Amino acid sequence: MSFNFFVRSNITFGRGAAEKLPEILAGYGLKKVMIVYDGGVKAAGIAEKIVAQVEKAGISYIIFDGVIPNPTNEVVEGAAVLAKEAGVEGFVAVGGGSSIDLAKAVNVLMTNPGRIGEYGGMNMVKNPCLPLVAIPTTAGTSSEITNVSALIDTEKVIKYVVIDNNIVASDVIADPEFTKTMPVSVTAATGMDAITHAVESYISNMATPLTEYNALAGLKILYNNLPKVVENGSDMEAREQMMLGCIITGFSFSNANLGFVHAIAHTLSAHFGLAHGMANACVLPYVMAYNAEACPEKMVELAKAIDLPVSGNPEKDKYLLADALKALCKKLGIRTLKEQNVPEEAFDRLADDVLKEPVLGFNPRQGVTKEDVIEILKKAYSE
Ligand SMILES: [Zn+2]
Repeated sequence: MSFNFFVRSNITFGRGAAEKLPEILAGYGLKKVMIVYDGGVKAAGIAEKIVAQVEKAGISYIIFDGVIPNPTNEVVEGAAVLAKEAGVEGFVAVGGGSSIDLAKAVNVLMTNPGRIGEYGGMNMVKNPCLPLVAIPTTAGTSSEITNVSALIDTEKVIKYVVIDNNIVASDVIADPEFTKTMPVSVTAATGMDAITHAVESYISNMATPLTEYNALAGLKILYNNLPKVVENGSDMEAREQMMLGCIITGFSFSNANLGFVHAIAHTLSAHFGLAHGMANACVLPYVMAYNAEACPEKMVELAKAIDLPVSGNPEKDKYLLADALKALCKKLGIRTLKEQNVPEEAFDRLADDVLKEPVLGFNPRQGVTKEDVIEILKKAYSE
């Protein structure tokens, strides 16, 4: 057995964890940072709490609050110009995956030449980046832990990923209180994204014993707590568990990567602007049923991790997980592709682009065809 498992971030976890920010920033000896967040974080009153902590540290700062869902190359490059002009020495990113992914991408351009689009793919970032403190306000993307930044190339109409250990946040401040203001639909969608990460990284053909260990542990926590936080957003114990589950799962997929579900979700977001979690969730059960042919034993292990009633007949048990995920999506109000206004006429074009997604290379079932993709999209459209 031989493998590499990369972990980098110093994690400060718990309610009130943001109060540690001045101490963390002081540890880096920074003189100026860029604080990155979006309108939702501002409206929830979280941004001002973070700004107050940066002020407490006695560090000067500039604010970039132009984060958009599914950040584009243009937004990244615009923010990088501002950061360079201001001479920032580090970043504090507050928000969901979009804020943290954007900060990671801007950080690449602080110490590496050229355009952000040149860094798509794996291990393309040659120079180490500046310190980045990631403060998640959702429990889903695990962007605070991972080596991934997902961006939109508006010219090529693709969602692509920069995957590189150089972009991992140096510090994570995980305060479950910050996830309390998430609307119900965002809680459901981001939580389903996290569940997708757990199952896709577990069955990935890059999985190792350490990623599998984390994926199973993460799935168990997420599956048991997501319905609780969707039902009652103020259940702080469940919120805390969701945040913990995301970090544990992040260790897995940052090292083992993802698969077919994300290939479809990236394409849906690039073409129709679908929110990432919702795009994943609506195809997840069907892709898992499809993948069950290639890795039946692993599907049974996933089913056992969430205490599904395994019969001992692998031919039957391999679909237990897919069925349970379908039931969970219904329970959480995950919308079909039809309800998300994806036209059926686009399936042909979408399928062509899904097949070009590099993340498909990590999927356990290889040889995915255009017909396979269209069949899954049809199920996600109407079922
Ligand atoms: Zn995802």
